[in-house]
Amino acid sequence: DHRNGEPADETELAIDGALRPTSLAEFVGQQKVRGQLQLLLDAARIQQRSPDHILLSGPPGLGKTTLAMIVAHESGRPLRLSSGPAIQHAGDLAALLSSLTPGEVLFIDEVHRMARAAEEMLYLAMEDFRIDIMVGKGAGATSIPLDLAPFTLVGATTRSGLLPNPLRDRFGFTAHLEYYDPAELEQVIERSAVMLGVTLPSAARGEIARRSRGTPRIANRLLRRVRDYVIVHGGAEGEADIATVGAALDLYDVDAIGLDRLDRSVLEALVRRFRGGPVGLNTLAVTVGEESETIESVVEPYLVRIGFMGRTPRGRIATPEAYAHLRIPHAEDALR
Ligand code: ADP
Repeated sequence: DHRNGEPADETELAIDGALRPTSLAEFVGQQKVRGQLQLLLDAARIQQRSPDHILLSGPPGLGKTTLAMIVAHESGRPLRLSSGPAIQHAGDLAALLSSLTPGEVLFIDEVHRMARAAEEMLYLAMEDFRIDIMVGKGAGATSIPLDLAPFTLVGATTRSGLLPNPLRDRFGFTAHLEYYDPAELEQVIERSAVMLGVTLPSAARGEIARRSRGTPRIANRLLRRVRDYVIVHGGAEGEADIATVGAALDLYDVDAIGLDRLDRSVLEALVRRFRGGPVGLNTLAVTVGEESETIESVVEPYLVRIGFMGRTPRGRIATPEAYAHLRIPHAEDALR
């Protein structure tokens, strides 16, 4: 779903790929995580072994897939890409694991959405590079042990809270990716603008950065829309000034602080339908016609982070800042 920072289609996926940094040095921001990963990779290289399993958590578009690719690239190992929803049976995972070449990096996106039986098979695989394959049914069923080539699992999840503890414990290193600040997003945009051939004065970069919801994937996408706008409407030597940026992004319903249509409809439902809450997540999701998983992993973390939404034991609430942004008088203000 393109609204939540995921690639919209194959073309965007390809462009996402073209804009991906291939080394830790080129990866913008997340300084702490970068340092930790660097040490992990260096130690593995010195000892000539596979790096430990790595778990990356955080909202979509913050660089989890990119980091998995960098881990493979920097350690000179092949990379295999898979995802939790594609692993619906233990057999799917057995086939995948037994086909890995020695030292391969296996990336499993949305690792929290794997089938339960596969999850249990993964515990043993991660720990001992071994799986037990069940053959037959009922009383005649037996398990056949199978040795695997050593591999490095890089798991990604938007919801680390949904991972069972035994799985989480088997990752040697866990990193939580944070939203990027505008200065970091400006760096991402500067780099991508060169690759896309767009000329952007610093003020225009800042404007895109402010509207990118703290997310590099969104920054890159907005930059492409600005590029389109310049191609169609022209500009002084194909340069996108701040007014061009504003016009292009307004056209795509990205507001002055980067909230998109879904962010705003969640806030408006919270404020208008539920008088600011508290309201349960599922009720809120139904009201705006979206999956509660999307609300919880994509919309809510950003609204909480910018202080527009709060979580209480009784449900979600809108803060006075949310009312102010929507220009809706706050009940307490009205009483004053
Ligand atoms: P995720 O897997 O977390 O959803 P991706 O790794 O697919 O996110 O990143 C989405 C896009 O954002 C990619 O095109 C990538 O190039 C860009 N990107 C993400 N993080 C960074 C970063 N730290 N520096 C530069 N580009 C980034």
